Amino acid sequence: MGVHWKQDQPILLLLRVALVEQFPFLTRLGYSPHWSGIGGFVDRKTKSGGPSAHAEGRAADIYLSAFDPYEKMLGDGLLRLFGSNLTALGVDHVIWNRQIWSAEKGGPRRYENKKNGPHTDHVHVAFTRAGSQKQPPLLSKLVRDLRWRLDFTLRTRLSGLETVRYGPADWKSPFD
Ligand SMILES: [Zn+2]
Repeated sequence: MGVHWKQDQPILLLLRVALVEQFPFLTRLGYSPHWSGIGGFVDRKTKSGGPSAHAEGRAADIYLSAFDPYEKMLGDGLLRLFGSNLTALGVDHVIWNRQIWSAEKGGPRRYENKKNGPHTDHVHVAFTRAGSQKQPPLLSKLVRDLRWRLDFTLRTRLSGLETVRYGPADWKSPFD
């Protein structure tokens, strides 16, 4: 059975649903006309000229700012979520805020790639070809668990901080 690689693969569809369900503000950041906040298939090479997993629809860019306290917590949480479940989720590598975690070399390790940038404005997660064809329920569960951990952290550490762009009242799931 041939796989059509020039489009978002099944894992990306699940990832978007799971993320937007738990963190609806991701739809409002406005980076993409389709799924603003979470990019996927793009037919291009990387900035350093190598093949991009985006060109096979098996990489996602989750736009968050490492300079926003709440978004950084979510980015850190996602890096750990993908990085500590590489095999179970079929992840090839994940990059965020000058750190990389890969199936090949483990992690987290410092990410130094001047051409591709420090990834302080998005989490890049690439799945293996095999992993990209699956929709593991574990992914939805881990994203849900992450949301509840962040809720608690927000209440205890960030409540009252006016610099937080998206407060708890703003990101209640519409699916609850
Ligand atoms: Zn990317």
